[in-house]
Amino acid sequence: MAEAPKTVSMIRRPQIGIHPFTEYFKGFEQVLSVKQIFMEKTVKVLGSLQIEIFSKRTGYMGVSDEDGHIFVNAEYLRDGEERGIYLDVIHELVHVKQFMEGKTLFDHRYAYVDRPTEIEAYRHAVKEARGIGATEKEIFEYLKTEWINIQDHKRLAKHVGMKLRKGQPIELDSRS
Ligand SMILES: [Zn+2]
Repeated sequence: MAEAPKTVSMIRRPQIGIHPFTEYFKGFEQVLSVKQIFMEKTVKVLGSLQIEIFSKRTGYMGVSDEDGHIFVNAEYLRDGEERGIYLDVIHELVHVKQFMEGKTLFDHRYAYVDRPTEIEAYRHAVKEARGIGATEKEIFEYLKTEWINIQDHKRLAKHVGMKLRKGQPIELDSRS
């Protein structure tokens, strides 16, 4: 099963409050997918990025559309699957960049799975998932969240470039 790169480490003992990103998420400035987001500003952006760890029964991660900091649910950071958290960080960093560019993060004219800012963030996370060796089936599972229905789940998968057959992903290396 694909895992987060060994060069990256995440502190899974969350303290509620505001912290530097680099205190909890280490080594991300070395990740090619992250460098592709911020280019030569990578170290600087991650170095000044803040995360806000909150405690709530539900929720994962997000980016503030007021100041571009990242929200992290303490329970998710503590108990979530490492690979999923890793990919979510990549996803949220794309939103950080979008915020820096002045884009509207939550454009409600679009459904969640059709929103250009979400598609860009998911595409980038999916590219990284493939890069660390996740199968299409694993990626398809990763795209599933409780707030989207099966139709939206499939639509999102197509938006990020997955090929589906009978509602299931086709492996890229499939010879059939
Ligand atoms: Zn998002």
